[in-house]
Amino acid sequence: MDKITKVLINEEFCKECLYCINFCPTHVLESDLTKFNSRGFHPAKLVNEDGCIMCGICAQVCPEGAIEVFRIKEEVKK
Ligand code: SF4
Ligand code: SF4
Repeated sequence: MDKITKVLINEEFCKECLYCINFCPTHVLESDLTKFNSRGFHPAKLVNEDGCIMCGICAQVCPEGAIEVFRIKEEVKK
């Protein structure tokens, strides 16, 4: 396994539209029902990092621009 997935979700931007959750092909996003952001929404959360295939769809469909997906490969030793 040489990938490290980084899905960053800006919780404050989230308006709980559920687009990212519904469009994620591997169903690894959920609303975090344990918290509210300052606008009163449950923010989206990545619940299974290993299940993320780094497709970037969540970032593309988010109308708030709340998600960034980074694809980070492990650095080769110098
Ligand atoms: S990058 Fe793709 S697989 Fe990963 S959380 Fe987003 S939509 Fe799901
Ligand atoms: S698509 Fe964006 S605004 Fe909608 S639930 Fe996901 S992170 Fe929140």
